[in-house]
Amino acid sequence: MSDIISETFGSAVFNDRVMRERLPVDAYEALKKTVETGTPLDAGVANKVAGAMRDWALEQGATHFTHWFQPLTGITAEKHDSFLNGSVNGEPIMEFKGKELIKGETDGSSFPSGGLRATFEARGYTAWDPTSYAFIKENTLCIPTAFCSYGGDALDTKTPLLRSMEALNRSAVRILKLFGHDTKRVISTCGPEQEYFLIDRDMYARRKDLIYTGRTLYGAKPPKGQELDDHYYGMIKLKVKAFMRDLDEELWKLGVTVKTEHNEVAPAQHELAPIYSTANIASDHNQLTMELLRKVAHRHGFKCLLHEKPFEGINGSGKHDNWSLSTAEGANLFEPGKTPRENAQFLLLLVAVIKGVNEYQDLLRISVASAGNDHRLGANEAPPAIISMFLGDELTAIIDSIAEGSEYEGVKRSDIEIGVDVLPHFPRDTTDRNRTSPFAFTGNKFEFRSPGSSQSIAIPTTMLNTILADELDGFYEELKDAENFNEALEELIRRTINENRRILFNGDGYSPEWIEEAGRRGLHNLRTTPDALPHLLDEKNVELFRRQGVFSRAELESRYHIYLENYCKIIRIEALTMIEMAKKDILPAVSTYVRKMSEVVSCARSIADVECGFEVDMIKRLTSLSTDMYKKMQTLEERCAECTGASDQAEANRFKDIIIPAMESLRAVADEIETLVGEKYWPYPTYGRMLFAV
Ligand code: ADP
Ligand code: MG
Repeated sequence: MSDIISETFGSAVFNDRVMRERLPVDAYEALKKTVETGTPLDAGVANKVAGAMRDWALEQGATHFTHWFQPLTGITAEKHDSFLNGSVNGEPIMEFKGKELIKGETDGSSFPSGGLRATFEARGYTAWDPTSYAFIKENTLCIPTAFCSYGGDALDTKTPLLRSMEALNRSAVRILKLFGHDTKRVISTCGPEQEYFLIDRDMYARRKDLIYTGRTLYGAKPPKGQELDDHYYGMIKLKVKAFMRDLDEELWKLGVTVKTEHNEVAPAQHELAPIYSTANIASDHNQLTMELLRKVAHRHGFKCLLHEKPFEGINGSGKHDNWSLSTAEGANLFEPGKTPRENAQFLLLLVAVIKGVNEYQDLLRISVASAGNDHRLGANEAPPAIISMFLGDELTAIIDSIAEGSEYEGVKRSDIEIGVDVLPHFPRDTTDRNRTSPFAFTGNKFEFRSPGSSQSIAIPTTMLNTILADELDGFYEELKDAENFNEALEELIRRTINENRRILFNGDGYSPEWIEEAGRRGLHNLRTTPDALPHLLDEKNVELFRRQGVFSRAELESRYHIYLENYCKIIRIEALTMIEMAKKDILPAVSTYVRKMSEVVSCARSIADVECGFEVDMIKRLTSLSTDMYKKMQTLEERCAECTGASDQAEANRFKDIIIPAMESLRAVADEIETLVGEKYWPYPTYGRMLFAV
């Protein structure tokens, strides 16, 4: 094979092929067993693996190694060490030992721990995750690791994800046994669709708001927005195409299976999706993808914006987390079956998800809560803040018929087999997809559409896995000793549907009627991050995570504090940036422009008795607007000064209820002013230039 994909794919990864080539058989087998069953690796094997990794990495030109981890800051972290470990007679000794592979110590004091780590114990440690391949990035061997405190508390997003995969594996394997389905392992799979914006790098560099906050805090609407929908799946511009091609190659090297890339709805917005993989690897790969998007964009003279809402009035960016379950043998468990028994198993899993989403709507909402994502959820675009579930017409009809105990009046009667299980055999869903639903069943997987473009999919996926594991445990208890399995199953499925039907909604998630309807159904509508976060510590949620061994109470508390703190810090930086831009750039620009106009008027009038209608009008309007803007800026300044600097619930609420509205009203005047000031006087590139000039 000599095509570019086969040649590059995985070339920078210490993957299964390399391991088989380079490890002694016994070490390879032991490692494989560790990966598949989670058994600990002994020191001897670890040394052999480390040695093989070092040799391979050095041959590839690597000079350093790092434990690569995902602290709760939302980005990845690394601490590089060189392989060099002294020299003998002027010859370098290159070392990398098993213990360096397995465990690393790191001064974690600058990573958020939400109180989990007392300050006197600032160290944390990183532990090798052998289920995710090591790879080389910029001459550094990167070893995917989990990040924990010395007490063993998870300080990252990977550890809980791995724990949740383990919980789900345990629960699913044993429930499948009840169906006579023996499998070694059940794995959760993910395929995240990543949206992003690309803008010109020089323009980016001229906008303080983008630099400090990742989004524009000011900006008048351009004459053309996204109303023509002409960008969606439109022709990809050559410059962008060159970027995508380069990006693909970089990602292929790292074994990331990027597959589709296309333009999105908004101008300058694009999307990239990989072929799905094991949740843990998909999550690592998505982190790498975000990193490379930024780097490769830079090389091509672009800036890649991963913020959820870089431009007001233009669609924001999300990250659809496609999620399913697969057996070790490769069967997709959310593929509706061909036989009644397979269907019964599918329906049981499906109703477990329905029940889980209904009972833990709050957790799904929290898993995607951030200051950035608040601009999307509930703000009249991509999914609403209310969590509901879309099944499509056909599956809904089946679910309804089961609930009512009536026969299924499906589209194709010939496909229906009501056998022992009274559960119909049904064809693959053919209904159109509802793009407004936050959580949709799409034929053989679920698509959680609420995550924001910059967020880690590890967090929502951890929630989904844990919730499903717990529901399956409940079902198992009920079914395991049933005298008549089919009857018990049927009754359980029917009851579960009836009790959880309120979460199902196939209509338009954007409509105001839905908000009312959801209220009547008693569904949560947690519009903002400060509204959602406290529910993390609701007793039912603490208990869920404890039962499944995914988070301890202390770990949940720490996350609650870290997320709150993050929210407060972000809004604070945004507010301060707005003040600085107003004071140092926008208001002075208005003055310059008004002065120019005034000079024109006095100059013209010294020559003749002229009206100077435009100039006089501008002078009047702009000075009045700038006075207003100045006052609004002062209000924002005063309100910021009243902030306590703490990062607690009260402070987060204050940001939401007092600071954000003040920011919005300041922006409104500034945006009006922007429409009046001559472009060459305006201190920043406009929306029109940024969105259409790429
Ligand atoms: P869309 O129409 O939403 O773009 P696609 O068919 O392109 O849907 O798939 C979107 C993502 O879903 C891809 O990353 C794909 O690999 C992923 N996906 C497909 N099947 C599964 C599965 N069984 N588990 C997890 N993700 C999946
Ligand atoms: Mg999709």
